This record gives sequence, structure tokens and C-alpha cells, in this order.
Amino acid sequence: MSADAQPTPALAAATRAVSLGRPPQEPDAPLSTPLVPAATYVAGGDLEYGRYGNPTWTAFEEVLGSLEGGRALTYSSGMAAATAVLDLVAVGETVVVPVHAYQGVLHQLGERERRGLLRVHTADITDTEAVINAAQDAALVWLESPTNPMLEVADLSAISAGATAAGAQVVVDNTFATPLLQQPLDLGADVVLHSATKYLAGHSDALLGALVTRDDATFTALDEHRRSRGATPGVLESWLAARGVRTLHVRLERAQANATELAARLADHPALSRVHYPGWGAMVAIEVAAGALAADLLTRSTTLWVHATSLGGVESLLERRRRWTAEPQSVPEALIRLSVGIEDVEDLWADLVSALASLPSP
Ligand SMILES: *Cc1c(COP(=O)(O)O)cnc(C)c1O
Repeated sequence: MSADAQPTPALAAATRAVSLGRPPQEPDAPLSTPLVPAATYVAGGDLEYGRYGNPTWTAFEEVLGSLEGGRALTYSSGMAAATAVLDLVAVGETVVVPVHAYQGVLHQLGERERRGLLRVHTADITDTEAVINAAQDAALVWLESPTNPMLEVADLSAISAGATAAGAQVVVDNTFATPLLQQPLDLGADVVLHSATKYLAGHSDALLGALVTRDDATFTALDEHRRSRGATPGVLESWLAARGVRTLHVRLERAQANATELAARLADHPALSRVHYPGWGAMVAIEVAAGALAADLLTRSTTLWVHATSLGGVESLLERRRRWTAEPQSVPEALIRLSVGIEDVEDLWADLVSALASLPSP
């Protein structure tokens, strides 16, 4: 760990999520960092201009940095954060990426490869040895665990150790796990990425991305990149995320309990051929036995579960991922991704089973 990285704080994550990123406790100070719309600042201070910094960004960055155990920078979206990481890879280098990863990342990597900017090596992240082998001549190993939408889990410690020994940087998209369930920097990763749009902000009302690192040189390079490229977060979005992250532990606990219960009940449902659930987290994927058309019908037959993309909000969503043409062909056509929310589990179950009962038999 470098000299000025934060040591692991003594307070529990739930306490830090609630108490960090607040103004100093002085008489009449507001409890929450205000929303500060500012394009510029009076000269002579640290901020100077709206593209370089904002107190509302800092409030959320302080909380997230502490939860992940590093220093955080926020961006206009998760994809803007991903773009920043990929922009720092030298031209002609190789990037190792999971076969199943967020499709926006796969798409951008493919586009960079076609433009001759870098080489892409896809790997099955459950095959630790294959990923480490691929890392031998790579500059960057991109990991997502659990993967979207197949929910495969990578051995982050072993892969990070192998990749680091080979001289490759490791970035982990921790959107699905959140820092409460997995802290990649402690497992050896160099950079953690979040689509804060999802669990961290948690209410499906803000787009925001983040990167967290312990390495000072990486932090400085990313900060300079953000200042110059300008993919800065919106001030309202930062404020919403700072408010949302206060309840992350409570929301995630309920959503995870709901997901565990639903995954167990769905496991032997006759209308399904497979249920994917890593045993933790609040994302579940199900495969409809009667095929893609029946899966589409399912997404139209629920009343409580909303048919929508995205995840990590308080409300439960479902979606057939292959409705997106960019989704990898190895994702089964009849796979439906469930983002389990914090509603009453019996209501969620009743809505799902009644929708499943309306499907044609396989
Ligand atoms: C949504 C998502 C992203 C992209 O984030 P945006 O905030 O939508 O730009 C990246 N990775 C994962 C795993 C995601 O779910």
C-alpha cells in the first residue's frame, strides 16, 4: 500500500456508509453535503473549475473509497469509468476479458480492437489457469465477478496474483457484488469499477460510474484523464448516490435474502431448465424450458416484476438478455436475468409463479 492510501478503518462498513462523506459537525451545519451546482469557483483554491472537482462528488467518493479500501473517482456513468481505464492502456497492448461481461464493455473492446488500438483475448473466468496464461502477455486483465448475466464467479485472489506476477494490471467490475460482499483491492486487484447506477445509488434514478484504486500513480493518471476528457459526474446524480449509499447494507441484506429464497424455490420449477445463482448477492438468472418466445412471454406476464434492463434498484426487474443483439451468443436465448429487489418475498414469488404458470409447456 502506498504512503497516503487510507488504512483499513476500524468502523464497520455499515457505519462508514452512514457516517462518512458528511460536512463537519458544527452548529447549524446540514447533516448531508449540499447539492452544489457550480461551473466555476472563486480563484485561488483547490477546485478552480467545475470539471476539476465538486464538493458533492467528493461526499460520495469519500464513502465509496472507504468501502472499497482505496481512493475513488466518479464519472458520468459506469461506461465512462470503463472508458477511462481502457484509455490508459497503451496502443497495441492486449486486454484479457471474460467471455461473459457487461455487453457495453465487450462492445467497446471490440471497437477498439477493430480500430487497431488493442488486442482482445476473451477467457472463461472460471478457468483460473486459462486466465493467468492469457495474462502472460497482456497489459490489463479485466474481470467481472459474478459475470453479467451468467453469474460465473472468478477466483479473484489467484488471478490477481498470477496477473500481477506477469506484469499485468487487474481491474475488477464489482457492480454485481458491491463492496459489502467483495473487496477486490484486498484480493490483489489494482482498480475497482462500479456502475454506481446500480446497487450503490440503488433507486434506478441516476447514472453514475466510479473507479477506486490504492495506487497513487494510477489515481493521478485517472484524475488527469477525467479533467481532460470531461466525463464528470452530474451534481444531482452524485448527491442521489451519496444519499442512496447510506442504505446500501440494509437494501442489499433484504435483496439478497429475497434472492436466496427465490433461487431455492425456483430450482425445481418445472417451467425452468436451469437456475443460476452463485449463493450470494441479489442477481439470479433463470432459463425458461419452453424457449425464447416463452421467455419473452414471461417478461410480459408479471405485474410486480418490471420488464426493464438494469439492476440493483429497490424494485425487482426481469429481462431476457438476448433481446439485445450485442449480447454474446453463448448466453442462452431463453435466459432471463432477475434483479431481485427489496419487496416482500411472498409477493415476488406469487407474481413469478403465476406468470410461469401461464407459459406453454416445453
Ligand atoms: C450497468 C453496468 C455497467 C455500465 O454502467 P452504466 O452506469 O450503465 O454506464 C458496467 N458493468 C456492469 C456489470 C453493469 O451492470
